Amino acid sequence: MDLLNTLVEKGLRRELPTREEALAVLATSDDELLDVVAAAGKVRRQWFGRRVKLNYLVNLKSGLCPEDCSYCSQRLGSKAEILKYTWLKPDEASQAAAAGVAGGAKRVCLVASGRGPTDRDVERVGRTIEAIKEQNEGVEVCACLGLLSDGQAERLKDAGADAYNHNLNTSEATYGGITKTHTYADRVDTVQKAHAAGLSACSGLIAGMGESDEDLVDVVYALRELDSDSVPVNFLIPFEGTPLAKEWNLTPQRCLRILAMVRFVCPDVEVRIAGGREVHLRSMQPLALNIANSIFLGDYLTSEGQAGQADLDMIADAGFEVEGAGTTTLPKHRADALAEAGAAAAGGCGSAGAAGCGPAAEKTEEGAGCGSHSGGGCGPCGGHAEPASTTPASTGAAEGATAANGARTDLVAVRRRGAGTDLAPNA
Ligand code: SF4
Repeated sequence: MDLLNTLVEKGLRRELPTREEALAVLATSDDELLDVVAAAGKVRRQWFGRRVKLNYLVNLKSGLCPEDCSYCSQRLGSKAEILKYTWLKPDEASQAAAAGVAGGAKRVCLVASGRGPTDRDVERVGRTIEAIKEQNEGVEVCACLGLLSDGQAERLKDAGADAYNHNLNTSEATYGGITKTHTYADRVDTVQKAHAAGLSACSGLIAGMGESDEDLVDVVYALRELDSDSVPVNFLIPFEGTPLAKEWNLTPQRCLRILAMVRFVCPDVEVRIAGGREVHLRSMQPLALNIANSIFLGDYLTSEGQAGQADLDMIADAGFEVEGAGTTTLPKHRADALAEAGAAAAGGCGSAGAAGCGPAAEKTEEGAGCGSHSGGGCGPCGGHAEPASTTPASTGAAEGATAANGARTDLVAVRRRGAGTDLAPNA
């Protein structure tokens, strides 16, 4: 297929596909799907080999958010029966993080609900980062605290943060229909602040909120422009008790096409399958590892994932390997650019520089982060539905009934273990 050959060649050169080519990936037929996965796999292997990076979410503060993100179980007015608690103490967060690291996670993602942190919150998270780094040598820490004010990204960097997550979530054109309490521009601004401080920018999207193919392509092009090092791809978990509870419109095939499109547009960045992996990819999860090079281990912010051991088994069975702590995730050109950006920020230059997902060389302007947590984002506050059971979503889901609208609420379980509970975390 000429389209796929072209996309592979461009991906190997880090050249931006045309919008028409990106849209064509989303429009491929089921008969073409394995060819699409194989083509995206060539690009994935060029930049990331057969390594899978594991990330571990620690929800520092859950629920009770004043923002109104429609996809989020922690939003203002959410009726989802999620865990609600205020800030974990540094030693509690560190203990949760240690479980993820022991399970094979290389990065710990510290997430807190809310519009954005106060300076006191930033200090508190700084102490948490220090505690985690003291107890887990070599671990990467990403903070996801919402919209940042001036100077906060620099303070997080000084405290030892390696990255900052704030997702764009959807296209600029549709953003206002998803959230009214902050804007797309607010999100872009926070990603840029993280970039300018020399933090690695992590910013992604949520698919399945009723957006068009054009919207998906728009947000992925925007992420490339922002030069995000990591792009979490969330698949909406339509939580009961949230405005998007009825938006069950993803199939495993659609998820694979979306991941492939992201890989072709951002060939050399960490493409992470985030919230909704088990719910929407189901038994196709291992196939998705041929496209994405990163996943979350264990549970999400407010919902449960499959058992951590099942994640590890899946990686091994599919012929991939867990990325070790001593390995640099990003390709050399991006890692070097990030190091330069960090040095420039430390020297007060503030230029973010670096490696974009983009083509040769360039980088671009913006950055991106999680901030308001998405339904799946950084692990964003993935909203979840009712605890259909206390059993984590399973990979197979064979027996689960699929409703006329494709709803698989049987695969959604509200998190009832780990951070904020007395039960051991899933890692
Ligand atoms: S995504 Fe973040 S900011 Fe938005 S409602 Fe959820 S917790 Fe609040």
